[in-house]
Amino acid sequence: MTAHHRQPALFATDPELAALVSAEETLQAETLRLIPSENYVSAAVLEASGTVLQNKYSEGYPGRRYYEGQQNIDRVEALAIERAKGLFGVDHANVQPYSGSPANLAVYLAFAKPGDTVMGMALPMGGHLTHGWGVSATGSWFRGVQYGVRPDTGLIDYDAVRALALAERPKIIFCGGTALPRTIDFEAFASIAEEAGSVLVADVAHIAGLIAGGAHPSPAGHVDVISTTTHKTLRGPRGAMLMCKEEHAKAIDKAVFPGLQGGPHNQTTAGIAVALHEAAQPSFVSYAHAVVANAKALAAALLERGFDLVSGGTDNHLILIDLTGKDVPGKVAAKALDRAGIVVNYNTVPFDPRKPFDPSGIRIGTPSLTSRGLTAAHMPVVADWISRAVDAAAKADEPALAAIRSEVADLMAAFPAPGLPLA
Ligand SMILES: *Cc1c(COP(=O)(O)O)cnc(C)c1O
Repeated sequence: MTAHHRQPALFATDPELAALVSAEETLQAETLRLIPSENYVSAAVLEASGTVLQNKYSEGYPGRRYYEGQQNIDRVEALAIERAKGLFGVDHANVQPYSGSPANLAVYLAFAKPGDTVMGMALPMGGHLTHGWGVSATGSWFRGVQYGVRPDTGLIDYDAVRALALAERPKIIFCGGTALPRTIDFEAFASIAEEAGSVLVADVAHIAGLIAGGAHPSPAGHVDVISTTTHKTLRGPRGAMLMCKEEHAKAIDKAVFPGLQGGPHNQTTAGIAVALHEAAQPSFVSYAHAVVANAKALAAALLERGFDLVSGGTDNHLILIDLTGKDVPGKVAAKALDRAGIVVNYNTVPFDPRKPFDPSGIRIGTPSLTSRGLTAAHMPVVADWISRAVDAAAKADEPALAAIRSEVADLMAAFPAPGLPLA
């Protein structure tokens, strides 16, 4: 089916924009996506996210709206809420946050006042901007204090986290991050938060799908609030959810609406409901475990090829490569890999001597390639491509990158991505 048939109205109305969508479909089909925060939603999630639910305003919550005509919208949102509660084993779920960053802002609004001390992992150590980092509103409206990883192991130093928490008594402690290749010990964080008298938030944006599939321990029962995006390993549309114990339900709901947002994006809520339904199937348990198995196999293959991995490997979907020993800066490597059809992002490594916009590392992960059906048996091939592309980057060898790009496209053609048109 050609693009003109898939999006006939769009091609008729706005061929310029339609051509861009079509080009993006081709790019996603032909390249190997290793960005660990990205994935491919199913055709069902795409369909649900592109419906007339788009046309409806529904400020408020199911049964308590400020607009009439909510007969169907209430049921859509209630379905998403029930599915989230069932999948994650929580008392309460709010599925309205527009994305992960606004979800975290709602947590601040619910539990802190401007100027209060809040604690999170430092951004260059693998935390997220919204965990109190200086350039984010969360770091300028609140007083952010930050923990990191141990220089010798690359692992979170829980003794240092406890010491900082007891010294600073933050209102909120965030655990979770964007470049953490290892399991998060939610119980350790819970005992620290209890001692310090802090509200504990597990921001599981990256690993929500692994938790849903039983491939990472769950924070449910250990933390006050779980914040997550829906579009990373959970494989839903771009959006977010906040989940909590019953005692915090009112505070969280009030913070999201009317505290921070207006009308929820109902088409996205529908897509989230579908993604949660998919994530409750046995096939998703297999998917989550395959993501981790692939990451472990890829890490082993990279180590064999002389790559230096932060923390020495991975427990989850993510691998952070320190390229210092390869004498290729992260950005140069990332751009060369992109030309070779392998899409990654450059990233700081802990204690990075280089600047954030030109750091020493690249960050990769296996959620997307696992969604396409690649297995551990393919990981040596992927590691070879990365190794050859990094070597080619060092020598500015463009023909070598072009050769890899065509090998990548050949394999990708044999493993079509969910939701993308067949070539
Ligand atoms: C991705 C991410 C976010 C932010 O999500 P956006 O949807 O990009 O705003 C927040 N926290 C963590 C840990 C993340 O990985």
